[in-house]
Order: sequence, then structure tokens, then C-alpha cells
Amino acid sequence: MNGLGVRLASFLGRRCQACGEAFRGGEPGGEESARLLCPGCRDLLAPRRAGYCPACGLCYADAAAEPYLCGPCRSAPRPWRNFAWHGPYAGLLGELLRTFKFNARLGLSRVLAALAREAWERAARDGPAPDLLVPVPLHPRRLAERGYNQSLLLARGLAGLPGLGLDPAALARVRDTPPQARLAGAERRDNLRGAFAADRGRVAGRGVVLVDDVMTTGGTLEEASLALLRAGARSVDVLVLARTPRE
Ligand SMILES: [Zn+2]
Ligand SMILES: [Zn+2]
Repeated sequence: MNGLGVRLASFLGRRCQACGEAFRGGEPGGEESARLLCPGCRDLLAPRRAGYCPACGLCYADAAAEPYLCGPCRSAPRPWRNFAWHGPYAGLLGELLRTFKFNARLGLSRVLAALAREAWERAARDGPAPDLLVPVPLHPRRLAERGYNQSLLLARGLAGLPGLGLDPAALARVRDTPPQARLAGAERRDNLRGAFAADRGRVAGRGVVLVDDVMTTGGTLEEASLALLRAGARSVDVLVLARTPRE
């Protein structure tokens, strides 16, 4: 938006992309989510800042506890290096993500991409900066059913982050798998084996940020990370908006 547009919007008020109410506020230059969300929705969408596992976002009952690794992440370290996320899959964030999955309206894509960008900027990260954004792909059959890949929409909204280019062709879903939610633990891992193929020419030597909307057990993200690492990726970081409250 140009300078006049920004002044007009703050004079006329804005419309909240979550609840549709008109509101005033959102300083130019401040966080983008403050220009897209009314103060009430912004409160409901506050990021989780404590009481979770820093490798997978699993939330603890003590919401004020310093982040510490959960049991499963201690006994079987995740294949990714850094994990960035916004908050638990619950409340207004859960509602917006469910709507987004079946209705990719532009305003909602912008809000969710803004929250993902802010989560990435906020996250503590180790090691050299990554350079490639890769959305978790859908199998072509599911893509045809739904019409769009919500992870790609999110990743597109992040493509403006400094140093990060978007490459949706780096990773493909080569096997259609039944939804994970219907399966038990060991079945889930078998279900996903060989589900992804990464393009060595696109990922070898690169630092990849794998983008998805929701993480449940993390099985899908693990299998996708392993495919990228096998194809020579230097590192894999994960960025998701939400994590389901428990396994
Ligand atoms: Zn609102
Ligand atoms: Zn964990």
C-alpha cells in the first residue's frame, strides 16, 4: 500500500480479517498482523511463548514453564534443526485454519502468512541461515480434489523474507497415503514411508525451511525432512502455524 493508502486506511478504519469487524489501529511499519486483525482477535491469536517443547511445539500444562524438550523428542530427536511455530491448534487459530483448509479466501491467507512470518522472525534459530522455502506438497490427486495447497499459499506469503526463495518443485508427494488421523502409531510411520521425493538438483547444499499449516504427530514433516536430507539438503528447519495439543 502506498503512503496515501496507509493514511486513508487508518482514517477510515480497517476490517478485521478474522471477525469482519471494523477497527482502527495498526501503525504503518508495525507488525502486519496488527493491520489485519482487530485488537480483540489479536489477543485471541497471541503466540505461545512458554510451556512447550522447542523441537515440536507440544504444550505443557504449565503454560509459564521455560521451554524444554518433551520425552518423545528426547528419546528420538527430530530430523529438523530449528522449529518455529505460532501456537496450539485450538481456539480462534484452530477455527481460522479449518476455514483456510476448505476456503482459501485472500484475507485469511494474508493473516495466516503474516502470523507465520512473525513466528519465523521471533523463533530462536541456530546455525547458518537457510535459503529455500519448501511447502509440504499434496499428492496430485488431493490437490485436484481441493484445488489448492494451503502450505503453498502460506509459503508464498513468506517468500518476501530476506534471503529466502520459494521452490514448490523441490519436494513432491509421490505416494497418496490415507489421512494419518485414521491410523495408529506404527501404522502411521509405515503409511508415510516413501511418500516424498526431493529433487537433488534443487536442494543439494541448500538450507531448507519446510512450511506446513498444522503439525499433528510430526510424522509427515519427519518423512519430508528425511527425503530432503537424503537428497543432500544441508539442513532442514520447520515452520508451522499450529501444533495439535497432544499426540
Ligand atoms: Zn477481529
Ligand atoms: Zn517435542
